[in-house]
Amino acid sequence: MDWTVGRWLAPGRVNLIGEHTDYNDGFVLPMALPLGVTCTAGIRTDGAVRVSSVQAPCDEVETTMTGLGSGGWSELPTWAHYPLGVIREFERRGYELPGVELALDGTVPLGAGLSSSAALSCSVAIALRDLYAPSVSDAEIIDIARTAENVYVGVPTGVLDQSASILCTEGHLLFLDVRTGATEQIPFDLNRFGLALLVFDTGSPHRLVEGEYSTRRAECAAAAEALGVPFLRDVRDSADVERLGDPLLRRRARHVVSEDFRVLLVAEELREGADPRSIGPTLTAGHISLRDDYEVSAPELDTAVDAALAAGAYGSRMVGGGFGGSVIALVDVDQVATVTDAVREAFARSGFDAPRDFVVTPSAGAHRLD
Ligand code: ADP
Ligand code: MG
Repeated sequence: MDWTVGRWLAPGRVNLIGEHTDYNDGFVLPMALPLGVTCTAGIRTDGAVRVSSVQAPCDEVETTMTGLGSGGWSELPTWAHYPLGVIREFERRGYELPGVELALDGTVPLGAGLSSSAALSCSVAIALRDLYAPSVSDAEIIDIARTAENVYVGVPTGVLDQSASILCTEGHLLFLDVRTGATEQIPFDLNRFGLALLVFDTGSPHRLVEGEYSTRRAECAAAAEALGVPFLRDVRDSADVERLGDPLLRRRARHVVSEDFRVLLVAEELREGADPRSIGPTLTAGHISLRDDYEVSAPELDTAVDAALAAGAYGSRMVGGGFGGSVIALVDVDQVATVTDAVREAFARSGFDAPRDFVVTPSAGAHRLD
């Protein structure tokens, strides 16, 4: 591997609160996970492009910069659309890449709602920046990674995942106002309060690509139009939502408007140094809203949340786009085993495969390793 010139790491994320708010121009509060994708990258000057991943062992791609520009993407394995989309996007924006060699390896479970996709595309984007285009800003990196996912993979995600992977810092939640791009790092030191954040990957893959996500986005746009505002973020009074004639749009809007409020509430409490136990009920309220009003939960997610709460979690909710994926639970450090066992038992009783569990701490955003 004499082409190797460096290694870059970009993390996955969990959103403490603020689900389906990003594409409504609202607020989110994610943290980076101690799980990520490592991109080992090297410069080529012969116009060749080679990408491989330990997680896609039979799907190495060899092509050329000119080849990428002339179509034929449908022949390429889906996973490779993420790194190749990032490469194309650099080119399209006028940054010249004379060739590139990328070898990827990740620890974020794929399709678990923990954003392995943004970890993948962001790790490639920061590697290419350092190698070929050092003037590119973080904001543009986020946009490049998101475009790779939106245009070259075809998943219409908002800006949350890529922003979290690039902008989060160790020990903090990232409070992001998606409309203005304003960010604030809010300390989140669970250890100090004898708390732990558990993540359960329920193993039921989320199914965003299959259209539900786009449907929700369209419903939000329709609700905003009916309310006479550009985005649901702009609803000033939640009573306005209750006056929406269409019951489906009313429920969708109710989730988004109340979720923005929950993000602001949690950010305010933590900013003021409150014991994080106090945010537990708000996290759980977020789950109920996603389950009943936004209708993006799944039996595995509800089972994990209910079991965690019954076993003593202060708050618990599904994270990510929904229809499967992962759940978080805020628990006392000495209750981690009890809550984990309770969730495992509930899964066994329901006939679901055992979930994977992780205790996570707010970790560093994307950076160069060596
Ligand atoms: P999530 O982002 O929640 O994990 P997505 O469906 O958005 O779920 O992205 C998962 C997809 O990202 C995988 O199916 C795969 O195509 C790609 N991916 C993520 N990490 C890797 C990796 N380390 N190697 C290859 N492909 C990956
Ligand atoms: Mg993703």
